[in-house]
Amino acid sequence: MNPTKIPYLDMTWNPITGCEWVSHGCDNCWAKAMANRFRGKNGYPEKDPFRSTFRKERLQEPWECNEPKRIFVVSMGDLFCKYVHEVWLEKILKVMVDCDWHTYFICTKRPERMKSFIENHAKEWQLLRKHAVLCVSIEDERVMSRARVLAEIDADCRMFSLEPLIGPLDVSGALSKGKVHGVIIGGESGQKGRVMSGKWVSRVIKDAGAAKVPVFFKQWGHYEPARKVVRDGRRAVAVFANQDEIAVSRFKPEGVRNKLFDDWYYRRTQGISWGGYDMLVDGSFRKELPDMLKEGE
Ligand code: SF4
Repeated sequence: MNPTKIPYLDMTWNPITGCEWVSHGCDNCWAKAMANRFRGKNGYPEKDPFRSTFRKERLQEPWECNEPKRIFVVSMGDLFCKYVHEVWLEKILKVMVDCDWHTYFICTKRPERMKSFIENHAKEWQLLRKHAVLCVSIEDERVMSRARVLAEIDADCRMFSLEPLIGPLDVSGALSKGKVHGVIIGGESGQKGRVMSGKWVSRVIKDAGAAKVPVFFKQWGHYEPARKVVRDGRRAVAVFANQDEIAVSRFKPEGVRNKLFDDWYYRRTQGISWGGYDMLVDGSFRKELPDMLKEGE
């Protein structure tokens, strides 16, 4: 297992690596880029390095850590990709059941298989469910059906990971049923990152607020430079090409005029990279988590 910088998790555990494209949220898959980079090294196959591969030597890693950890299960692929053999899943399930002092975060874009696997292993699932967070990744309205499938799984903690959020999303209906315990929102980072609109974010936050669901806003991700910064007294608003407006006055360093979002000096002095920039439009931060993911719970 490896420590992770994901703020609501402690470790990643990858007894499986690899996956294949399933929807547009996968277009800039980071796990695929890493697999290609390590082609023929670190256990990645030389030919087709991103194919689903079982890493038998990593299976027992949760046993090696006596401290309770929040563990991301298969961050470098998708546990429920169709090329992951059932027998691999069963071995991983057994380790999670046996190492019950950890909390396991299982995120997929294939909730149908997650559901059927859990239903087919009901006895083991009853032992695991108290320390497993089930999450579906939803990038835009086109894949909202994943939310419905997740709600059908009998679980103690269900979450949405809206990352990378690449389009508008109406989660009000899905959240209002009381079956979702947390929402993560994040923009896409990296060279090819797609811009996330502040309007999409505001709408999800509003819907989550109405349903009293915790929101963890992770990052804006990729940002195009502001077209202009409008100053109004002590307030400054950055205006973007997609008509988004972001209030920026809170972090405006003294003496820096109208050089905020695209300014090297600003980034350096504030120590904020665009990928990790996490202030909301209203100047607040949202870092709420369901109980199962809170540190020390
Ligand atoms: S499901 Fe996840 S791991 Fe698989 S290709 Fe898509 S983004 Fe990558």
